[in-house]
Parts: sequence; structure tokens; C-alpha cells
Amino acid sequence: MREKVDVAVIGCGEAGIYAAYELTRLNPGLKVLVLEKGRDIYSRSCPIVAGKVRECVQCPVCDTMCGFGGAGAFSDGKFNFTTAFGGWLTDFMPAKEVMDLIGYVDEINVAHGATEEVYSTSSPAAKALEKKALEFDLHLLQARCKHLGTENNLRILQNIFEDMKDRVDFRFNTEVDKIENLGEEGYRLTTAKGDEVDCGWLVAGPGRSGAEWFANQCKGLGIQLINNQVDIGVRVELPARVFEHITDVVYESKLVYRTKQYGDQVRTFCMNPYGHVVAENVEGINTVNGHSYADPALQSENTNFALLVSNRFTEPFNEPYRYGKHIASLSNMLAGGVLVQRFGDLVKGVRSNDHRMSKSFTRPTLTAAVPGDLSLALPKRQLDDIIEMIYQLDKLAPGTANYDTLLYGAEVKFYSSRLALSGELETALPRFFAIGDGAGVTRGLAQAGASGVKVAQVITRRLKEIGK
Ligand SMILES: Cc1cc2nc3c(=O)[nH]c(=O)nc-3n(C[C@H](O)[C@H](O)[C@H](O)COP(=O)(O)OP(=O)(O)OC[C@H]3O[C@@H](n4cnc5c(N)ncnc54)[C@H](O)[C@@H]3O)c2cc1C
Repeated sequence: MREKVDVAVIGCGEAGIYAAYELTRLNPGLKVLVLEKGRDIYSRSCPIVAGKVRECVQCPVCDTMCGFGGAGAFSDGKFNFTTAFGGWLTDFMPAKEVMDLIGYVDEINVAHGATEEVYSTSSPAAKALEKKALEFDLHLLQARCKHLGTENNLRILQNIFEDMKDRVDFRFNTEVDKIENLGEEGYRLTTAKGDEVDCGWLVAGPGRSGAEWFANQCKGLGIQLINNQVDIGVRVELPARVFEHITDVVYESKLVYRTKQYGDQVRTFCMNPYGHVVAENVEGINTVNGHSYADPALQSENTNFALLVSNRFTEPFNEPYRYGKHIASLSNMLAGGVLVQRFGDLVKGVRSNDHRMSKSFTRPTLTAAVPGDLSLALPKRQLDDIIEMIYQLDKLAPGTANYDTLLYGAEVKFYSSRLALSGELETALPRFFAIGDGAGVTRGLAQAGASGVKVAQVITRRLKEIGK
């Protein structure tokens, strides 16, 4: 079957949703088709979360990462009002414009049920914390932040879907296999089922889970890819009390440190007070992540956060994505999934096993993680960086370097290759735009949504200029 639409959007994550939302709000007559390889928001269900299996069973399409809402659907929805992290949109447009776009995405969320409560950065307690951190050479990046909460995040997405479903054509369980350039005619997408979609304008928002596929398509289309970074590390889990004096003041604290041994940058990321550690599947590789509920009844006694070492590569190596996947696959090989080790065991040079874990005061929230030895999976440099950072954090939050602090591995944040894009997020091919995490321009909900809105505004403006 072949059909023709005005705009095709690949991917129904944060970026794709807000692109389609804004396209049809600004120009209700536009025929917008969203192609998504995952399921609709009501049908997504990870078998681990549903309690059907203990370990990742490698579903052909991962319900945690794919479907309406994309990777963010089951996140706890920390929505950061900042350009300091969460993406690189300021490389393409002024910071004020990015902040306005983020503010607009928040307005859409609020209109669909999001909280109006914002964690501020300007409180005296937040400023005192920043100063205290500096005493230990830890640099606290703060942002105004909203915590939507995992359960609310889903509800907001459902409301947005209900609002959009009559004006946008959503095609779920539909993976785009191939992108072809038809010249003046636009683009042809071929789905895995063999159907064809011709579109005048193309917006690609394939997210991290579709990044490798998308990079290959772009290479084939002659679009330049710029090397990007990969962040490798672990997810730390410890009693919530240890970090309470930080998380009570700044919900989403990012502490950045440059290690003395290698001069590498290590940072905390994705802080989940009273949260849960979860496994995620990125193209067949099990990595680890975390989330937390707003409802106290659903919270745990632990806080978890990522500790990530940023790795940038120079020529001739140009495949940070493959490097990150390789490291994650090593811990998968050892543990058959996510590996967990007590910090004390790691420093002592012994493997954590079931017996040692049973003595741990800190109980893992990801019970499917298999005790093992991270030093067999992570390169020495990244491991040394992580250990140095944990001791540094221990000065600000005593207890971080306790024997029973749990480290899950590997946590890998793939940013893949960034596309060469214009200030309007257009590729070198006219009317072909790339947005969100899969294009390597964002790495968080706020900027991913902002990139979708931006592209929708550009497309509708240009259509208006030609009288459409
Ligand atoms: C567990 C978890 C927790 C997170 N928590 C937070 C948080 O609290 N705050 C925050 O700011 N960020 C968070 N993030 C990151 C955030 O979710 C992402 O930055 C955001 O979802 C990126 O949006 P996106 O639209 O670019 O990509 P995605 O959300 O990944 O969406 C891309 C979509 O494209 C689809 N797709 C890919 N390839 C194809 C194809 N070939 N054909 C059709 N469809 C395709 C995928 O199925 C997917 O649904 C979290 C991520 C995870 C995994």
C-alpha cells in the first residue's frame, strides 16, 4: 500500500509528539502521519514491570523504550527548565528561544494535567548547598525542575493522546525501515511491513532506541554525522537518608567533578529520591536506569542516581555508540542482564554474590539484578573515575562510600552521532528535519519536546509563506 501525506513524523516520543501536536494546532488542515514502532499508550507493558518475568526477555519491540511517549513514558518525568543540561539546542538557537520553547512545552503539559509546582533554585538552602559542594570541588548544576511523577506522567500522556487522536493519524506497531529521497517530491518511507508513505516534509525523532538505525539511514542519504559522546558508568543506590539533605533542597541535583587521576568529567545524573532502579533495553542490550513515583505509597526507602563518565573520541575512532554498547554487553554477558555489586566488594576486589548480597543493609530495588564484579566489565579508567567520585561525594553526603552502597552496571547514555543541522534543525536535505535524542541534539524531556515544537513552527511558517 502507498499513501501520501503532508508531513510524516518518525517516532512518537517526546519530540515526535510535540512536533505533531504543534503542527496540527498551527495548521489544522495539515495531513500529519506519525509512524511509531511501539504500541499505543494504553497497551505498553514491560513484562518485568508486570511481574511476568524476572529478567529482560528481549521483546522484539521494547515496551519500556518504544510506543506513544517514547523512552520518557515510564520515566518519573523530571522536567528541567534549563539549557545547561538536557541537550544542546543552544548550539542551534539562542538560549532565550530554547527557554521559551521549554516553557511552552510545559504549558501544554499543564493543560493536560501536569502539576504547577516547581522546585526552585533560588532558595537560601539551595545556595548554601551549592557553596558547600564547592568546598569539595563538586559543582552543583541546578535547574528549576518539576517532578511529574511516573504515574502522573502516564496520565498526562494519555490526556495528550486523547486530545490529538482525532487530528493526527497515529500508526502504531509500524517501524520505518527505509528513508528515500524523492527530490522535489519529498521523501518516501518504507515500513517493515512493506507499506510506503510519501511525504512532502519529514520529521525524524527516533530517540535513542532508533539512533543506530537512523544514523545508518542518514549515512546512506549522504547526510553528515558529527561525532558525539557516550557516557558510561553505573547506577548508584543507597538509603534515601544519605542524600536527603540534598534531594530535599534540589530535587534534580547534578554534581559535576573533574577527577584528579585522569582529569575526566564525572557527574551525577537522573536523581531519583525514594525511587526504583529499572532495567532498560537499548537495541538488545540491557542497561540500567531509574525512576521514582510522586505518590509516597509507591516510593522505596532508597535513592538512586547515575554516575557517568563522559567519553569523547577523536579521529580515527568515530563510533562512540558501538563502544558504549560493547561495554554494556560485557556486563550483560557476565550477569545475563544487569549486574549489581556492593561498593565495598568492588574496592576490596571481590565479586558480590548472593551470600554477600544477603548481608547487605541496603536492599536492591531491582531484584532481577545479578550480583557480580563490575571490574570485569567496565574499563579501568571509567571505574577509577567512578570510585574517586564516590569518595568525593562521601564528603558532601557522608555514607555514599559505605560498604553496602549498591552499584548497578552498566549505565550507558548513548547520544550517538549528531547530525549536521541548520539553526532550524533541518538536515542538508531540504524539508527533512531531525529532532530529539536520536538526532543527538537533546537528552531530556524538556529539550526533546522543545525541538519538536521548534520544527513544527518552522514547517508551518514556511508552508504559510508559500500560501499553504
Ligand atoms: C527510564 C528513563 C527515565 C528517564 N527519565 C527522564 C527524566 O526524568 N527527565 C528527563 O528530562 N528525561 C528523562 N529520560 C530521557 C527522556 O525520556 C528522553 O530524553 C526523551 O524521551 C527523548 O525523546 P525523543 O522523542 O527524542 O526519543 P524517544 O522518547 O526515545 O522516542 C523515540 C520513539 O521513536 C520510535 N522509533 C525509533 N525508531 C523508529 C523507527 N525506525 N520507526 C518507527 N518508530 C521508531 C521509538 O519506538 C520511540 O517511541 C529518561 C529516559 C529513560 C529511558
